[in-house]
Amino acid sequence: MTKDKPETKHSRVIQIAVPRPLHAVYDYSVPTDLDIPVVGSRVKVPFARTITIGICVATCVETPHAKLKDIHEVLDDEAVVPAELMALAHWMTDYYHYPLGEVLATILPAAARKGAICRIDPPDHWRTTKPVFSNPRAKTQQALFDHLKQNGTCAGPDLIASGFSRQTLRKLLEQQQVERCSPPIAPIDETPPIPTDAQQRAISTVTARLGAFQPYLLEGVTGSGKTEVYLRTIAPVVEDGKQVLVLVPEIALTPQTLGRFARRFPGVGMLHSNMTDHERLQTWLKCSAGELNIVIGTRSAVFTPFAELGLIIVDEEHDSSYKQQEGLRYSARDLAIKRAQTNKLPIVLGSATPSLESLYNVQLERSIKLPLPTRAGGAQMPKYRLIDMRGQEHRDGISTPLERVIRTHLDAQGQVLVFLNRRGFAPTLLCAGCGWQATCSDCDARLTLHRAPRGLVCHHCSLKFQVPENCEACRKNSLLPVGLGTQRTEQGLMDLFKATPIYRVDRDTTRTSQQLEAQFAKVNQGDPCIMIGTQMLAKGHHFPDVTLVAVLNADAGFLSPDFRAPERSAQLIVQVAGRAGRAKRPGEVWIQTFQPENPNLVRLIEQGYAGFAQMELQDRIKMGLPPAKPMALLRAESPNAKDAQELLTLFKHQLSVHKTEHPARPTIELLGPVPAPLTRVANRYRYQLMVLTTNRKQLHQALASIKKPKTHYSLRWSIDVDPYDSL
Ligand code: ADP
Ligand code: ZN
Ligand code: ZN
Repeated sequence: MTKDKPETKHSRVIQIAVPRPLHAVYDYSVPTDLDIPVVGSRVKVPFARTITIGICVATCVETPHAKLKDIHEVLDDEAVVPAELMALAHWMTDYYHYPLGEVLATILPAAARKGAICRIDPPDHWRTTKPVFSNPRAKTQQALFDHLKQNGTCAGPDLIASGFSRQTLRKLLEQQQVERCSPPIAPIDETPPIPTDAQQRAISTVTARLGAFQPYLLEGVTGSGKTEVYLRTIAPVVEDGKQVLVLVPEIALTPQTLGRFARRFPGVGMLHSNMTDHERLQTWLKCSAGELNIVIGTRSAVFTPFAELGLIIVDEEHDSSYKQQEGLRYSARDLAIKRAQTNKLPIVLGSATPSLESLYNVQLERSIKLPLPTRAGGAQMPKYRLIDMRGQEHRDGISTPLERVIRTHLDAQGQVLVFLNRRGFAPTLLCAGCGWQATCSDCDARLTLHRAPRGLVCHHCSLKFQVPENCEACRKNSLLPVGLGTQRTEQGLMDLFKATPIYRVDRDTTRTSQQLEAQFAKVNQGDPCIMIGTQMLAKGHHFPDVTLVAVLNADAGFLSPDFRAPERSAQLIVQVAGRAGRAKRPGEVWIQTFQPENPNLVRLIEQGYAGFAQMELQDRIKMGLPPAKPMALLRAESPNAKDAQELLTLFKHQLSVHKTEHPARPTIELLGPVPAPLTRVANRYRYQLMVLTTNRKQLHQALASIKKPKTHYSLRWSIDVDPYDSL
């Protein structure tokens, strides 16, 4: 603060982060008729000819500007972004090189971002009061009163579902005939299984040191009972009055998952993308106020504020849904580790197929491995078998030996899961006369043929086209669907197994989690059936009667040029295989391949995921790739290829100053700029520049030195730190 200016002037200057790119924090003055907002509260401010909601990030600011705009309104008396999350936001700004205002906008629930009042709703459970005097009641009021008297405490939505109205409820409330009350605590009636020795060792290890930062990797084979370990690790934390954050992959947050927690503990809240903005905000606020013991949520739940957090669990930590793939490209798993560190807590990362990042942390002794090597409850791990597809007859992807195996399992009253990671009917429509292929007008991509509804669909930009009668090049009537999609294999299975129910599960049949639940409910009745589907089938589901899993095309994933492709393929195969034989009957996994000698596949089958992953990790270390070396990917895209390429070339020049020839000094490698493998998508040309560095400090110094030029808005670019997709 300078001496010649009166101090009061600065005391009314605050800094506001606004959700805008580039310069995201601005100084404003607080007019004397308004209270000075606290750091972390929302403030309405004039910004670029509009009014926007920003977050106060500093008060008593020394400003170089002589004239400041006044703020318009302070929306909160208390911080909606508590100090811990504010610190996390600053950290993310530095780590992901993203503007603070937009980081804060990502952290806040949508309702709060849009200016909703941050107040916990009064409870919406109702019971009758003991009326002091009795009014003559209208018929509908009497009916509602009697209903409550008979049934005890009822939830508002249940009353509405039973045909009563909010208005009747309000009338009775005004007359003090009914009152709001807290929800009844559900009886905890489950008898938990007795932990196996391996489970008990894992539980004891974590619960022995609850007050200190320590990451654990719970590496448990599919069906090994990881959830039981979570539940018993959570118990002492909740008993101690502390809270627990449980992150699950997008597709795994089902009523079943929630039920497993809610049957053991009171006060379980949920956060996922199918909730309304209002519901999400309510969970947020209740958790912040300490009214919830456990919050289970998907990616963005990592930003939940807690009154007293005691433990974090990340289930299926390898899952790609934890990484946001656009905008602020954060990893919820990595942020969860950061929060555990700040709050001095244990964090349990669970998976049957851990990411190489997590295995590397174990190797560096930053994380402790807790192995669960066998299935709980005595179930056997499934056996793997390969089918060499070279020269093999097949019907829409089902080879003759596979057909025979499927029949054997169905005859023995088993269920069959057929995995094919490609939706649609056929990935190519090809002219047998001249070789022409149907391609997207806006992308460098082939169109996928779909039936029911019939059409050609671009899986990259979602454009739909009519199926041409004749070849568009030679005009002959010789168009052929080539390759396999789930619709085609479903058709083939229906022809082969006429009497068996067949359920297809992919993004075309199953858009909502309710649809998924409905399909699984039918399967779990236990009658012989065949499921055919994409990776939606692979994740975390428990099908007790599936005895056979068939992987139709194991090669596709291993052949991708992305350096993570082998890791991802192996995870997918092991996860989908893990659906077999989870209960009393043993399971088998049959894998069709055109490359039975593919070293990745052979290693996976002979040594399991653990053996595969160790070798793969050593390869990455040798090649100087993540997780051994930190990576960032700079992407640029534009309607004009030259603009995107030139921008990355400029960045490359700026980054080049961080290169050193000295072998002992940290240095950086710059690969590119190169066109992305799928260069044109939705008529935009995409380029990328890969940055690899010796260590994190070096990476962040380099990225911070990028000088962002003023560019035309049609030229978009981004920094992806620790990219999941490197293509
Ligand atoms: P994972 O998440 O590791 O794949 P789950 O937690 O879904 O495995 O557990 C698989 C099955 O084993 C569940 O039906 C679960 O109830 C059961 N289970 C877990 N622990 C035990 C145990 N100690 N004894 C018997 N059954 C168990
Ligand atoms: Zn043709
Ligand atoms: Zn397209």
